[in-house]
Amino acid sequence: MHELSIAISMIDQVMEECVNRGGLAVEAVHMRLGVFAGVDKDALLFSYSLACEGTPLQGSRLVVETVPLLVYCPACKQERTPPSVYQICCPVCLTPTPDILTGREMEVESLEVAV
Ligand SMILES: [Zn+2]
Repeated sequence: MHELSIAISMIDQVMEECVNRGGLAVEAVHMRLGVFAGVDKDALLFSYSLACEGTPLQGSRLVVETVPLLVYCPACKQERTPPSVYQICCPVCLTPTPDILTGREMEVESLEVAV
C-alpha cells in the first residue's frame, strides 16, 4: 500500500515545517491531490490517521482537495478534460495528448495551526 509511505513522508515534511517555525500545533493539513496522481484518496486518509499515531500530528485532520485532470489538445489548441484517467485524449477530436496540465498534483498546500 504505497499510500502509507506517502502519508509518512508527508507527515515528516509537516513536522519538519513545524519545528522550523518554532513548534506549531497542527490541527489540519490541507493538500491538493490530482485524480491522475495514482493515489487513492480514501486509502491516503486512512494511512494518514494511522501514520499520525504517536507523532505530534496525532489527532490532526487531513483535508484533501481533489484536482481534476486537464490536458492541452494540440489539435484544438484548447484545454480539455479527458473522458477518463485511463484515456488521456481530447474528448472532442479524440487526439491523444501527453500534455497534462493538471491532475498530477500531490502536495501539501497549507497547515491549519492552533492559536
Ligand atoms: Zn481536440
